[in-house]
Amino acid sequence: MPEGHSVQRSANDFNRMFAGEAVLIDSPQGRFSLEAKKISGRKLERARAIGKQLFLDFDNGLTLRIHLGIYGKWRAHPPGNHPAVTGEVRARFASTKAIFELRGPTVCEVIDESQVATIEKRLGPDPLNPDPKGKEKARFTEKVLSSKVAIGQLLMSQDVISGIGNVYRAEILFRARIEPHIAGNRLTREQVEEIWQDSVKLMKIGVKTSFMITRDELFAKRPSKAERNWVYKREGQPCRRCETKISIELMAGRKLYWCSGCQS
Ligand SMILES: [Zn+2]
Repeated sequence: MPEGHSVQRSANDFNRMFAGEAVLIDSPQGRFSLEAKKISGRKLERARAIGKQLFLDFDNGLTLRIHLGIYGKWRAHPPGNHPAVTGEVRARFASTKAIFELRGPTVCEVIDESQVATIEKRLGPDPLNPDPKGKEKARFTEKVLSSKVAIGQLLMSQDVISGIGNVYRAEILFRARIEPHIAGNRLTREQVEEIWQDSVKLMKIGVKTSFMITRDELFAKRPSKAERNWVYKREGQPCRRCETKISIELMAGRKLYWCSGCQS
């Protein structure tokens, strides 16, 4: 499943290719045809991401909410004639600059302002969104410090922090040398704020490069998948820092990777 940085990249793509323009929207597959009519031909005011969800705000007060889930995918084409439809295209967006096709999303629905507000309220702060006054950081910190749930699990809760997935969860905790089973309320404020700051830093690199690189010395490079991370998918291999074998276990149904040497 894509983590927040890739949804932010989609929002950036939409803003570049569609914002300020009337967007023609249809549903070659048919499942989204009725809803597409509510927004097709309207001007896209802006695209924005909160965590793993993309919001396209149109000038008639309606918003298209998209969540790719596990199977959802985007494909972009140059503008002009529509390419022949292959597969199940749920929604197709056309402007003078591009054609985007959306396949297999978990959510693709048109909602109004009050529904948007309800969803926004439910979602935790997103490290990629601007936070000049530190309000989002404070929101995250308070949620973690008041919870008895393990920090490894809290980082995967979209109401605590939006956009973190399995890769960043494992890597951020390794970088902070925090044992993933410690309850949120057992951490210090400094530790929790450091987690937030590091999420901001790592996810920005993800937006810029499109890769989830978490080793500082590789930020400016193009590392292979096997080189990018400290612990993610490295179970049984020696830790790059202390040579302890990397552990794997299931936490709330998702694979958790960590180093019992460095994170204690
Ligand atoms: Zn280690």
